[in-house]
Amino acid sequence: MGYARYEITRPNGDRIEAGYAVQAVCEKDGCEAQIDRGLAYLCGKDPRGDDHGCGGYFCENHLYGDNRCGPCAAKIEEAEEVSA
Ligand SMILES: [Zn+2]
Ligand SMILES: [Zn+2]
Repeated sequence: MGYARYEITRPNGDRIEAGYAVQAVCEKDGCEAQIDRGLAYLCGKDPRGDDHGCGGYFCENHLYGDNRCGPCAAKIEEAEEVSA
């Protein structure tokens, strides 16, 4: 299985190259941490975006809980409070 490099369409319509062989910078404003576009740095579980993530890529300092960026982690918490 080759997940080193592949193309995806982001929720916002951008087509980008993703995969752990693709070098990138954390997408958090002002953060310049070097990361790659592997699933380890993905917000959520699906690079195209899903209910649990925005499909952005963030460094380990800007991923929280179950691999989510700040805004997505906050959204999930809110949803859980409502349904609880
Ligand atoms: Zn996110
Ligand atoms: Zn970062």
